[in-house]
Order: sequence, then C-alpha cells, then structure tokens
Amino acid sequence: MSQLQEERIRKLCQDLDLFTITEVHIHLAEEASKENWTYLDFLEKLLDEEVSEKFRRRVKVKTQMAGFPYIKTLAQFDFSFQPSVDKRKIKELSTLKFIEEKENVIFLGPPGVGKTHLAIALGILAIEAGLSVYFTKLHNMIYNLTQGKKEGRVKQKMASYRRFPLLIVDEIGYLSLNREEAALFFQLVSERYEKGSMILTSNRSYGFWGDIFPDNIITAAILDRILHHSTTINIKGESYRLKDKKRAGLVSEKILLGAGKKVESE
Ligand code: ADP
Ligand code: MG
Repeated sequence: MSQLQEERIRKLCQDLDLFTITEVHIHLAEEASKENWTYLDFLEKLLDEEVSEKFRRRVKVKTQMAGFPYIKTLAQFDFSFQPSVDKRKIKELSTLKFIEEKENVIFLGPPGVGKTHLAIALGILAIEAGLSVYFTKLHNMIYNLTQGKKEGRVKQKMASYRRFPLLIVDEIGYLSLNREEAALFFQLVSERYEKGSMILTSNRSYGFWGDIFPDNIITAAILDRILHHSTTINIKGESYRLKDKKRAGLVSEKILLGAGKKVESE
C-alpha cells in the first residue's frame, strides 16, 4: 500500500469516527493476505474490531460515571457460600426486565453478605446493555440533596438523580434521617415511582424501617411506593468479609449473629 493510499484511508476513517479501524487495518490486511481471507471475511473483521472497541469504551466510560465503590460481577458471586440467595431469582433479574418494567429490587441482609456486590453486578449488566447507571450511598445522596435545597437548586439535583434508568441507593438503615432528609428521600422515591428502577440495599428488614425515618406515616409512604412493583432478596447468612477471620477464631459467633439480628428477626 502506498503512503498516499494509507493517508487517504486514515482520513476516511477519521471522517467516519472509525478510530479502531484506523489503528488495525494494516495489520488485518496483512493477516488477510497471509490467511487467504475472502474480501467479506476481511470486511467483517474490520467492522467487528471497531464495534467491539466502541462497546468496550462505552462500558468503561459508563462504569466510571456510575461511581461504583468497587467492581464485582455476577460471575464472581459464590452462590454456594450464600445459599439463601436464590440463583434463579438473580438470573431472572439479570435479564434486566425489571428495568424495562420500571420495577425496584431490594437486597436486605446483615453486613458482608453480598448486597452491594449483587447491586453492582446488576448495575454492570445494565451498563453493558447500554443503559446509564448511578450508584450512591443513601447518605451521600441526601447530603447532596440537602445542599441543593440550601442553595435553591434542589430541582436540578433531583433531576440529576432522576435521569438514570437505574439508580442504586446503597446502605439504607445504617444512619437515620431527620424530617427534612426523609422528605427529600420521599420526594425522590415518588419522582422515580413507575418512571425508573432503583436497586436499594439495607441492613434492616422492612419492619425496622420505622427506625430510619422520623415517623410511621412517612415510612409507610416511602415503603408503599418502593414496594409496589418490586422484588426483595432477603439474604440470611454469614458475612463473606468475616468468613476467614471467623475460621481463624478472630471473630466470635456472637458478633456475627448480632450483625444480622434485625434482619433475621423478620
Ligand atoms: P454488604 O452485604 O455489606 O453490602 P458486600 O456486597 O460489599 O457486603 O460484600 C463484602 C465483600 O465480600 C465484597 O468484597 C464482596 O465482593 C464479597 N462477597 C460477599 N458475598 C460474596 C459471595 N457470596 N461470593 C463472593 N464474594 C462475596
Ligand atoms: Mg454494602
């Protein structure tokens, strides 16, 4: 191939935003001639490289924007360690039909049983399906909304959480909310109701959500909207984080049971 032809190909690729083909076409053309590929084989390979790289880049950018605290996939979840997690239910959720139907998923369970891991894993699947996802801890979101309210920009802040087809709100229940904070959470839940999916995680079973919010009326109103179209995965098991420590005798049985008390008493 002449220098001029190479320049023309690069220019054409750039005009069409075919950045990967710009990089790989010479190498692939050499391989094609060595391996006797047909013209169509060659064309297919070129296009496949471009599409695969675009997909990888899109997933990478969306994953960075999602703000996950760590990256874990469903394949990395050891179902045999946590038999209370119904594999079929998770498989059903992994079809992402719940997002299409604007339904919610709630993972309940004591610390370390895989609630955040499963929420992130479903979030990654949603990203791979081309959707935008945002992950936040409840308290960070409420802090952000409260700040927005002080600055008279609560509407914009709400909209920024509303625009994601999947919003993951982690760690409901570790800290309780005051009246103003609970009202902001209620507003968010109401705005997303039947409009977008949420995955929520909590260390408290629903019977104890009254301890998180300032009164039973707002607790009931929040639960009513969250649970109307929803799937609850109640994980009753031991902490994966502590399993090795427990085996080594560093954490007593009492602490492990105490961590799960409120959920398991459901
Ligand atoms: P929590 O229920 O408190 O949100 P996490 O989901 O953050 O707990 O899990 C704690 C750690 O243990 C994470 O690193 C997670 O990947 C890992 N983990 C939890 N359960 C499992 C499991 N069943 N298989 C593999 N890793 C697990
Ligand atoms: Mg967690």
